[in-house]
Amino acid sequence: MKTYAVGLRCDDCGSEFSLREPLTTCPKCGGLLEAQYDKAAMKAEVKTIAGDERFNSMWRYRQFFPEIQEKNIVTMGEGRTPLIKSIHLAKKLGIENLYFKNDTMMPTGSFKDRGFSLAVSYAKEIGIQRGFTYSSGNAGSSLAAYSSRGDFNAVIVVEYVANSLKKALIQLYGGKTAILEYENFGQISTMLEQAVSKLGLYQFVNFINPIRHEAMKTYAYEIVEDLGKVPDAMFHPVGTGGGIWGTYKGYNELAYIGFTDRVPRMFGVQPEACAHFKEAFDRGAKEAGAYGDYTKTIAQSIASDSPLQGGRRVLKAMYESSGGALAVSDEEIMEAMCDLAKDGIAGEPSSAAAVAAMKQAYKAGTIQSGDTVVCVITGSAFKQPSSIQLAGGEPKMHINANVDELASLLQHFGI
Ligand SMILES: [Zn+2]
Repeated sequence: MKTYAVGLRCDDCGSEFSLREPLTTCPKCGGLLEAQYDKAAMKAEVKTIAGDERFNSMWRYRQFFPEIQEKNIVTMGEGRTPLIKSIHLAKKLGIENLYFKNDTMMPTGSFKDRGFSLAVSYAKEIGIQRGFTYSSGNAGSSLAAYSSRGDFNAVIVVEYVANSLKKALIQLYGGKTAILEYENFGQISTMLEQAVSKLGLYQFVNFINPIRHEAMKTYAYEIVEDLGKVPDAMFHPVGTGGGIWGTYKGYNELAYIGFTDRVPRMFGVQPEACAHFKEAFDRGAKEAGAYGDYTKTIAQSIASDSPLQGGRRVLKAMYESSGGALAVSDEEIMEAMCDLAKDGIAGEPSSAAAVAAMKQAYKAGTIQSGDTVVCVITGSAFKQPSSIQLAGGEPKMHINANVDELASLLQHFGI
């Protein structure tokens, strides 16, 4: 089907490249590449957000992706996840229109499936033979699943700090994998740069891969389709920040085409222990540097001590949308995990961080009770079982298999 993608452009030097070239970063200067679209044609021709309704997944929006033939699409129904309206937390806080975008319901239990469905399909489309990523667990599981299903060769190294279940999942999905040892994220960045320059290895790491975050635009499309409007604020957990940047790009496209008249305020959330975006945002900087200790938080999926290439895109989305960078403690995260669970969703600590930050922003008066607010729940708590045990705990009471004791239990709970 017709798509509107026309090429890749470097953020730094402005050089333009074909989408058919197997590029990661800019071959001229090493900058990040961004997919470009024929906006005038989009504005003139696009009549509905969902251009291909045969797909009940994010692929219904494929007119907004680079062109990929249907035979190369590797899909398991990712995207089109429910936008759940909060009942209990909404009431507790007094925010009537509070929503959770529930990406715990994705094929491998995390939002990463959007990006890998697109990036693996695209890699097949342009004839790439092998690829690579490093991961804190969720991305690795996702790339392993999509590579296996799509017969694509990928090597996945998983951070030593990842929990053992996530490491095992990568193997279960058939991933070619190893555990990655390191002392700081600077070492990983150097390895990634050299993987391109010395090995010519195609990468799936967010932003270094120029296509993955294009899939995150689908958050904007789905939310606008479901709500019938743009929310006032969105809260995203931020690791590398592909989610927040892609979503922001998607909203801007919709605004440009004329489906909406504005974009939401975009808030990025990190653990207090390593909140480099907040540190940069608070001093008005356009780039973030190394900050904090990534081992000192329960929010494993967003624990990093420095951003990729200064995190400029992420900060740009925050500044331009009048959003912000927030940091939350592990205590706030655990409390938010319980809040979220009472509304029926078991989100991993990194996802609960978005809810914790929303509560913080509301208490600070940054968002108001009349606002329409969306928290992105990026991954399932089932991927981090120790956090479920920590937040939920063992039931304290025991009864014997005896109806009188059961009656006492009912009485105890007053039901
Ligand atoms: Zn460049």
